[in-house]
Amino acid sequence: MMLLPPLESFVPKDHYLRRLDKALDLSFVHEAVRDRYCQANGRPSIDPEVIIRLFLIQALEGISRVRELMRQVQVNLAYRWFIGYELDEPLPDHSTLSRALSRFGDEVFDELFCRSITGCQASGLIEGKVFHVDATTIRADLNANRVNRVDSPDGDARFGRFPDGKIKPGYKQHTVADGKQRVVLDVSVTAGNVSEHDEAVRLVDSAVARLDKIPEAVCADRAYASGLNAFEMAKRGIRLVAPPPQAKTFTGEQYFNVESFAYDESTDRFTCPGGKQLRYLSTEKKRHRRIYAACRTDCRVCPLKSQCTISDRRTLKVTAHHASLIRLRADSKTEDFKKLYRSRAPVIEGVFAEAKQWHSLQRAWRRGLSKMKVQCLLVAAVLNFKRLATLLWRYLGYRAPWNSLCAALTAMWRRLKASPPEPAVLRSHT
Ligand code: SF4
Repeated sequence: MMLLPPLESFVPKDHYLRRLDKALDLSFVHEAVRDRYCQANGRPSIDPEVIIRLFLIQALEGISRVRELMRQVQVNLAYRWFIGYELDEPLPDHSTLSRALSRFGDEVFDELFCRSITGCQASGLIEGKVFHVDATTIRADLNANRVNRVDSPDGDARFGRFPDGKIKPGYKQHTVADGKQRVVLDVSVTAGNVSEHDEAVRLVDSAVARLDKIPEAVCADRAYASGLNAFEMAKRGIRLVAPPPQAKTFTGEQYFNVESFAYDESTDRFTCPGGKQLRYLSTEKKRHRRIYAACRTDCRVCPLKSQCTISDRRTLKVTAHHASLIRLRADSKTEDFKKLYRSRAPVIEGVFAEAKQWHSLQRAWRRGLSKMKVQCLLVAAVLNFKRLATLLWRYLGYRAPWNSLCAALTAMWRRLKASPPEPAVLRSHT
């Protein structure tokens, strides 16, 4: 017989799981899953908090298979300590985790992700001034020959273009991150063929609801730059910082493009370089673009016709939110816009690089959209808890005074902003 010291004594004082443990808030788990267990009969279940902790280890270490996860937990003392199991206690079977995933659904993991945001917000890690939006592709666990087939093991995965330019079956994770400390504010998952452009507004709305704060600007790449997105953001009082597409003409570069025509929003008419008006004609059935046309009699005698059109009159096709696109184009020439756009890549690309390199987000761990959502929520929660854990570790033991100091300084700053100091009275000494 051998007497061993407690398991905790084997885990170094500055171990990253200790830091994570300090940042975690799992007080909600038992209540959140109460309805999903039978209260009256059945065998005693594995503590749901243990299951969530196991999933957190999986996301933290980027272990894609639960069998491998349980093998690692079997031999790693720090993992055992983190889930609260003693050395001689038998671990749950890997199938328990898979069953728990179906039992919990994604709501429990969404709540975990929400807690990570709340913790970061309370600790001052989120500024809420500039949001960064982008999407990344995740390779599905599926053979390319079995995509979108009746016998497909993953019926939700679709072909999408990956960063290497190849078309593969996969999913897309749409993400919003805060500009201050790269805290993830919202994630959603779609099939690989869904355009990121269509997800932007819903994603920003969801992040605003989570934070209860409207940002000043949303930075995104050119895939999000459209009149519709600029219009929707402006409606919410948000500035869209995304490089707008170049105005083109299908007849050739020597002809006037849409930017050569002045648009008057109040009359909904364009004025051409020859000073004539183009009126609204109709709307395309397929792409819903609005068509404007000049008068044939004006174009026929126009001296600029050779630079304008090869047909008998000039027409323009624009989106329904062309005025917003014009404003976006004008804004994109300012220095402030360019500076904000330069801050985009380090934040959002940094989040994706971290998630893929350290937390195995480059590949789907399971099949199906709902399980993919759990993976994305878990990785996003782990990223946030990591930031929170680093902050708390730095100020460990000083957390309460640090929070009160932050609150006092914020209150002082708000008071100063609300009532600017009265100007000093200048007296002349006569
Ligand atoms: S061709 Fe027609 S639309 Fe073009 S500049 Fe002349 S009048 Fe204006």
